Amino acid sequence: MTARLTIHLDAIRHNVATLAAIAAPSRTLFAVKAGAYGLGMVPVARAGLAAGAEWLGTLEVPAALELREAGIRAPLFAWLHGEHTDFRAAIEAEVDLGVSSQAELRRVAAARAALPARVHLKVDTGLHRNGANPADWPGLVAEALELVDAGALRIVGLWSHLADASPEADAAALAEFHAAVAVAGALGVPLEGPDRPLLHLAASSAGIREPEARLDLVRFGIAAYGVSPFDDVDGPGLGMRGTLSLHAAVIEARDGIAVLDVGSADGVPPSVLGPSGLGAEVLLGGSRARVLAVGIDTLTVEADAAPGDAAIVYGPGELGEPTVEDWAAWSASIGDEILARASTRLPREYLD
Ligand SMILES: *Cc1c(COP(=O)(O)O)cnc(C)c1O
Repeated sequence: MTARLTIHLDAIRHNVATLAAIAAPSRTLFAVKAGAYGLGMVPVARAGLAAGAEWLGTLEVPAALELREAGIRAPLFAWLHGEHTDFRAAIEAEVDLGVSSQAELRRVAAARAALPARVHLKVDTGLHRNGANPADWPGLVAEALELVDAGALRIVGLWSHLADASPEADAAALAEFHAAVAVAGALGVPLEGPDRPLLHLAASSAGIREPEARLDLVRFGIAAYGVSPFDDVDGPGLGMRGTLSLHAAVIEARDGIAVLDVGSADGVPPSVLGPSGLGAEVLLGGSRARVLAVGIDTLTVEADAAPGDAAIVYGPGELGEPTVEDWAAWSASIGDEILARASTRLPREYLD
């Protein structure tokens, strides 16, 4: 056996089903941005849909179009748009669009698609990433309502994104969001009845711990990949299972030292031996082996081993191997980062 990545689709399904049950009766959007946090978008998206996610979120339009081309019919949401975003293709593929400004709204309306665009208007409630600020919000809503009357679009969502900095900050942002929804209602957006837009602002953190923030839809990302969004509990502590394993093999061994065939180019954090990084380990021959050096293509560990012996750098932890969250701690990083680093050059196997 040589170096490879294993994506545990059974764990994705378990995690999404667990999160969807936590969020219910709110619906679940499964965030598959950045190639499903590095795991591979299409197979991971399908696993999430099979487990109870009703929506998928992709960040950009091209990724949403790729899901449509793969035959996925579920509602899709894309919210970060560049200069060259093809809104017409998005609208005609029935991809819901997050819209943050009047300028963006005009570009969507100018796409002249064969269908009205499905638009989710975004208000900024303090994260300052995008979204209309409260002063610009009434103008954005009013122009959207004119475009609804003109048949160019439908307002299918009002939304925001929480900073997850603290429960207090999230509560203040939620209050700002409700105030913005009330402004939209006063301007003529129906807040009752079958045409009312979906309200959503929670991601993993608030979706798990802040029931009042779940509203109509929770957008789960990192927790579904088995990594906790909290400092005080890890993924398994939340009932989540690890979704990615990095396997390696011994290529050289002598005098209690073994060299493995993966390195920083494969996604092992190189800074693991810095001031914060003492203590990194892998599983080799059934026990933990201390990491001595991280090279570009190799990992040197302390162990009595023989060429060909199999090692696990990280995984769900069920065999005693370290987890993605352990590596995040050893490298003073976060789980999202460890997942996203996982190399595209390694062979991948999807376990069902
Ligand atoms: C990434 C993202 C999510 C998911 O966030 P997690 O913290 O990973 O659960 C939800 N909503 C938006 C807008 C995002 O960009």
